[in-house]
Amino acid sequence: MSVDAFITETTVEGDDDGPLADRTVAIKDNISTAGVRTTCGSEMLADYVPPYDATVVERLKGAGATLVGKTNMDEFGMGTTTETSAFGPTRNPVDESRVPGGSSGGSAAAVAAGEADVALGSDTGGSVRCPAAFCGVVGIKPTYGLVSRYGLVAYANSLEQIGPLAPTVEEAAEVLEVIAGPDDRDATTRAAGADADYASAADGDVEGLSVGVPTELIEGADERVVERFEATLDDLKAQGAETHEVSLPSVEHAVQAYYVIAMSEASSNLARFDGVRYGPETDAEGNWNETFARVREEGFGDEVKRRILLGTYALSAGYHDKYYAKAQDARAWLKQDFDEALAEADVLASPTMPVLPFELGESLDDPLQMYLADANTVPVNLANLPAISVPAGRADGLPVGFQLIGPAFGERDIVRAASAVEN
Ligand code: GLN
Repeated sequence: MSVDAFITETTVEGDDDGPLADRTVAIKDNISTAGVRTTCGSEMLADYVPPYDATVVERLKGAGATLVGKTNMDEFGMGTTTETSAFGPTRNPVDESRVPGGSSGGSAAAVAAGEADVALGSDTGGSVRCPAAFCGVVGIKPTYGLVSRYGLVAYANSLEQIGPLAPTVEEAAEVLEVIAGPDDRDATTRAAGADADYASAADGDVEGLSVGVPTELIEGADERVVERFEATLDDLKAQGAETHEVSLPSVEHAVQAYYVIAMSEASSNLARFDGVRYGPETDAEGNWNETFARVREEGFGDEVKRRILLGTYALSAGYHDKYYAKAQDARAWLKQDFDEALAEADVLASPTMPVLPFELGESLDDPLQMYLADANTVPVNLANLPAISVPAGRADGLPVGFQLIGPAFGERDIVRAASAVEN
């Protein structure tokens, strides 16, 4: 299709009726679909066809949705542009010379291009919110434990949640309602929030809402982004919200802590790709170590290899305390800072991404630049909180995303505030 949003196109009909009947859904290709290949954007899983559905897919089908395909993504979710996919890049439907964001770039592009009504992505450090912001659609990262991860191929399991992408806040909330709630097959799911009616919170009523603005998440952002952000805050004030500055001193360590934790978990999670159950055929015979090394050399791309190497290093004897344990301390500190800021505000607001969508190819040679673009999204995953990205107009013709962060299981609060941004 036009912007290469899909790795696999298919049609899988859901039940005859339900809240999502007649809706088409695109699914990120790291979410298992029975009988439909699930590649994670990797050569390693190019031929892998799962025998079962992820819980979220089962729930979407039960709600009547029709699956239309599996979407392109950064390999195993590792990236911010969808360019680390083994299947080539996806283009941004708003400007085809730009990236759609990542890692759920195919899902956002499919929705923005009208190739699916709604989509699912996964957000480990911003992968639903970033592409939502770059493509001008809505994306929700739920509270950790609200949505089952059963059937999601793990990248960094302590950080990630599956979340919806949609053209409007209300439609995203409708999908969240269908996929949320406890699951016996994922012991990290909670009952909290399970029965909540998210879509009805999209009523645009922000009279008396208190919005905290963390100064640290504005500093360093592109001034064209900041201009749109400030204008959106003014809109919210005009609708009856109150805004004030808050401080999250620990966020200066968030990107470092995130990458240490994410890479450490990735090095462990990706050890299962050993060439026995998954992976390309190689001509290395007999010697297990050699086969293991060869399959991983051929099956993984550069970004995945970089992260496995760094994660293995961070967890190794002698370095564990220096890196991994420190990163966990930073994570605890961040949670505390968020608790304090949310004690003085109903929701927090920031630009979703500090930058406008990159040109295709621009960031590939500079991983550090790419990692720093995650500055405003990763703190939310480290603190296990819910957040939404909602379009806040355009700068130089390119979409800008406005991020709202809520207290744990406060999805209704961020849905309500985001629906006022849409007005
Ligand atoms: N860009 C971040 C990373 O590369 C986030 C990715 C994600 O949320 N899956 O890790």
